[in-house]
Amino acid sequence: MNRKSLLIWLLMLGLMFVTFTWMGNREKSAAGPKAVTISELIGMVEADQVKEVLISGKERGGKEIAAVTKKDEALKSFALDTDDLRKALNAHKVKYAEREAPDSGGSVWLAVLLNFLPIILIVFFVLWMMNRAQGGGGASRVIGGHTATKAKLYQTSDTTFNDVAGIDEAVEEVRDLVGFLSNPKAFNRLGGRIPRGVLLVGPSGTGKTLLGRAVAGEAKVPFFYGSASEVVEMFVGTGAARVRDLFEKAKKQAPCIIFIDELDAVGRKRGGTSFGGGHDEREQTLNQILTEMDGFSPNTGVIILAATNRPDVLDQALTRPGRFDRQVVVPAPDVKGREAILKVHARGLKLAPDVDFSIIARGTAGMTGADLEQILNEAALHASKTGKEAVDMSDVSFAVDKVTMGPERKSMVLTAKQKRDTAYHEAGHTIVGWLTAGCDPVHKVTIVPRGRALGVTMSLPVEDKHCLGQPELVALIKMLFGGRCAEDLILGYGTTGA
Ligand code: ADP
Repeated sequence: MNRKSLLIWLLMLGLMFVTFTWMGNREKSAAGPKAVTISELIGMVEADQVKEVLISGKERGGKEIAAVTKKDEALKSFALDTDDLRKALNAHKVKYAEREAPDSGGSVWLAVLLNFLPIILIVFFVLWMMNRAQGGGGASRVIGGHTATKAKLYQTSDTTFNDVAGIDEAVEEVRDLVGFLSNPKAFNRLGGRIPRGVLLVGPSGTGKTLLGRAVAGEAKVPFFYGSASEVVEMFVGTGAARVRDLFEKAKKQAPCIIFIDELDAVGRKRGGTSFGGGHDEREQTLNQILTEMDGFSPNTGVIILAATNRPDVLDQALTRPGRFDRQVVVPAPDVKGREAILKVHARGLKLAPDVDFSIIARGTAGMTGADLEQILNEAALHASKTGKEAVDMSDVSFAVDKVTMGPERKSMVLTAKQKRDTAYHEAGHTIVGWLTAGCDPVHKVTIVPRGRALGVTMSLPVEDKHCLGQPELVALIKMLFGGRCAEDLILGYGTTGA
């Protein structure tokens, strides 16, 4: 059972519990006021035992009377004619109010509905359980249209390889797919087997989907996008049915590309200790993907691209020849790659002459294409917010800080002493970093609080580092200690900031 169906279970049970409790309370409160006849009530009014009275009902017809005694006992009564009661109330100066009763027609229906609510709920619950039980047996059941694929069809995406930067090797790997998709006959002629499935492996945001779209765009073929985690939904069997639906739609549009995002959501190694036994939803969906891939006659013209950031957990059946037999690594870009990606996304921006992409690229080690796109977007927003004509380096630098360290905490109130202490601490890092051989050059120092930090000293590596040597690590430790030493020297004590 997946998390969603567990949630539905709990929700149903909760709803039934609430209804029963509420019905119970209704009965109790209905039994609350003591019923008395109208003459009894008048007698009590005349004996000065009644505190207040509410008369409700239509102009003509019976009136319901609610009363509270001086001992705070609730009473109810009913009368066709309330003139005598009113006279008694006026004579004994008892507070009373009259109101026209709400239209009882609606409330009758409501009452009937409420009385039947638990039964309706139980019937729904039983039907739902039966549905689940049957759905487990056949993957092909269609349950109320839930099986229609949610894949979005992009009739010829207009993305091209020009929009993809910094992952040149990956682009080279998929380039021949374009040739195959746009002219399958040329490939068939020599009897070559076109890869059916290509697995794009890399962290999220590195451009795997973008790459898929670019292949579709270059080959001018439709692009079907489906996310594996979306496919696995609350009803057992729908995942598999959706996969079938997706492949059916795609085959009609061949040549085309099917892109399955987050393949690891369904493609994990089977036979593990999955909650719900070995026959769960995920496994059925995976089996359906495998069946569909095997069912293609070679060279139908459908190429399946799948993305994952966990190739290690994928079931071996997926990576077998004839399925996802080609793996393309889409890594986080290096410094050159980041510069190229920034240039791609800066195309639509108005930039001031001081913007230097190589510096931004150096300061954004480890970031993916999606992060860089976000930085430029934040920079543009910041520039327009401050009423500038063009995006300049200070906007970009603001955006990098925001994306890497979180937004400025303008509301945080710091005393002059706290600011001074932070300044000394950061100055310690800066001086040691500046003067120690092996440290990356210091790029920026700030005592504007962001995220959890009161201040930051940022140094920029000249190039990406894939492996640090011992001398560099020692230099780094020295620089980190610089803050603490400054506190000792100037303040005479350390702080928790260090
Ligand atoms: P993934 O599928 O790997 O999670 P996406 O392809 O969805 O990543 O990337 C999200 C967005 O980030 C893209 O739409 C694109 O704008 C930007 N992006 C990511 N990588 C690159 C890249 N190599 N070149 C240009 N833009 C990129």
